[in-house]
Amino acid sequence: MKKVFLIKYGEIALKGLNKPYFERMLMQRIKTALRDFDVLSLYRSEGVLYLEADQRHSDEAVIAQIKKVFGIASVSIAYETETDIQKISDTAVQFMEELMRHKDIKTFKVSAKRGFKQFHMKSPEICRQVGGDILRQINGLQVDVHEPDCFIHVDVRRNNSYIYSEKISGYGGLPLGTNGKGLLLLSGGIDSPVAGWMMAKRGMEVEAVHFHSYPYTSERAKEKVLDLAKIVSQYSGKFKISIVNLLNIQQQIAEKCPEDEMTILSRRFMMKISEKIAVQNHCHALITGESIGQVASQTILGLVATDEAVHIPVMRPLIALDKVDIIDISKDIGTYDTSILPFEDCCTVFLPKHPVTKPKLERILESESLLDVEGLVEDALEDVEIEMVDFL
Ligand code: ATP
Ligand code: MG
Repeated sequence: MKKVFLIKYGEIALKGLNKPYFERMLMQRIKTALRDFDVLSLYRSEGVLYLEADQRHSDEAVIAQIKKVFGIASVSIAYETETDIQKISDTAVQFMEELMRHKDIKTFKVSAKRGFKQFHMKSPEICRQVGGDILRQINGLQVDVHEPDCFIHVDVRRNNSYIYSEKISGYGGLPLGTNGKGLLLLSGGIDSPVAGWMMAKRGMEVEAVHFHSYPYTSERAKEKVLDLAKIVSQYSGKFKISIVNLLNIQQQIAEKCPEDEMTILSRRFMMKISEKIAVQNHCHALITGESIGQVASQTILGLVATDEAVHIPVMRPLIALDKVDIIDISKDIGTYDTSILPFEDCCTVFLPKHPVTKPKLERILESESLLDVEGLVEDALEDVEIEMVDFL
């Protein structure tokens, strides 16, 4: 029996005239995600993608990989057959037998959809025939239209028809590369990997910048960030990460500015340096993992003071999420266990005892004027380490 993966997309279906572009991008992304899975064919017909992969890979492995491609609403494992009612019915019987090998099924319901309107039978007749054949040929089954143990979906199309049961949800969103590129400020924490993932889900490619305070922060702390980047790249594809030493800047702030403004001032430097890196790398926006009210530097006045440091738009996809919700996402996408490994971050090295929670912008600017901002930014940019991360 020929097995195919039926891939349905959500929001792309609403794209009107631009739909073919989004579909093409989606197909490209699926091919990249499955580059090690020997894709035998991938084609699109009437709003559905059909993928055939070499059978040496388990269905679970293929599905796990497809699910990481943004833009996909659901994936189903389907049996393909000719559009002929007897063949459809026979295939449905075999499909049910296969399902029953893995799952305890006592009741079922057939649903039929006729994409091919000229087919000589209407949907209720198809359901009756297929359901009847299953009941006749397999013992111990009953139809339950309200709460069946399993569904048998029959999708009748012009050339071939498809039998499947489950729709496994994808993440939705839009294909990567359909919404420009953002530069993610990636720390070793829980939030920023989730923020990058969320923007990638809306079609934005990501690159990253990471700040450290070596030798106050360790080599291992940097490795942890690269590990996080690798997990994010399973969804967002290969990306570049610029690694910048912030130590000199932090020492200058510590020496010349009020202690309680340390975090806000270093955050402003991070933004300024990131803006330059973003422009050099053709990124349209910065992305941070900030969430309003989460910590002292993320109060509304803290965010205002941070924002003022740059002209480039700053995307903060977590802005209104509670920490528990961010943690749930990070567990789901696989970054949580790495994020909670206890390594120091450059912010924690110089953490003020009582950080300002209501920083006045004029005060912050006054403190900042005690420093050679331009010169410090230029110095930091002189010694940027570059790493490429990829999901393999
Ligand atoms: P996270 O869990 O992402 O570390 P957080 O709640 O600890 O976030 P902060 O440390 O205040 O929050 O940082 C807020 C945001 O600033 C981060 O989400 C990240 O985007 C950016 N950021 C913080 N530290 C760094 C760093 N060392 N390198 C790059 N970006 C950073
Ligand atoms: Mg942090």
